[in-house]
Amino acid sequence: MADVLVFAAHPDDAELAGGGLIAKCVKLGYSVGIIDLTRGELGTRGTALERAAESAAADEVLGIEIRENLRLPDGGLTETLEARKLVVDAIRRHRPTLVTAPCTEDLHPDHAVAGRIVAAAVYPAGFAKYDTGTPRCRPPALAHYMNHTTFPPSFILDISDVWETRLKAVKCYRSQLFNPDSLEPKTGISSPDFLERLSARFRHFGAEIGAKYGEPYLLHRPTPVVDPVAIFRRQDG
Ligand SMILES: [Zn+2]
Repeated sequence: MADVLVFAAHPDDAELAGGGLIAKCVKLGYSVGIIDLTRGELGTRGTALERAAESAAADEVLGIEIRENLRLPDGGLTETLEARKLVVDAIRRHRPTLVTAPCTEDLHPDHAVAGRIVAAAVYPAGFAKYDTGTPRCRPPALAHYMNHTTFPPSFILDISDVWETRLKAVKCYRSQLFNPDSLEPKTGISSPDFLERLSARFRHFGAEIGAKYGEPYLLHRPTPVVDPVAIFRRQDG
């Protein structure tokens, strides 16, 4: 069982784009699981083995107890019925209230396809006759996190109190980040100012809600509001 299930195309996407929500939910006492669709074996830097070790280190930082890999092909992620079924099965085994996934329109095709596979799995996960050998379960909410491509957020989560934990988790991916001694090809993430750019993005969304750091999410459909005063009540008194 996981209260929150985070789907990602590659190991490190969950931390880079949605690490604040993960750290925040763990801090609030919720159980959080991460399901990586691929092992990142096509990544420009590092190997699948290195990335698995880095993910394990990030799990420890974030307090993640569930982390699985669906071992779909990196760089060749496609919207197949088999891929959808694997995601349906993961949802049914962990029975989350909230599912997060990449944005379906992201610049990186693996991210966009991962987002679409998850979006197409949430609904049929509730079908009684869709057989995966696991009891049906339809999560009430799907929220897309932001990788490359920006979008007008449905909500911005205040992640100021977990920013340092989030950053520490990202820094576990040493094969991907700047290393002056590395002879591997350079990528956007490996540039010396990447962490500064990452910080600037979440400072920007923090500023949108009057917080130091904020993480943007796009909801899959309108969300019911039970108490319209409580949801907007100012936190600063
Ligand atoms: Zn990625």
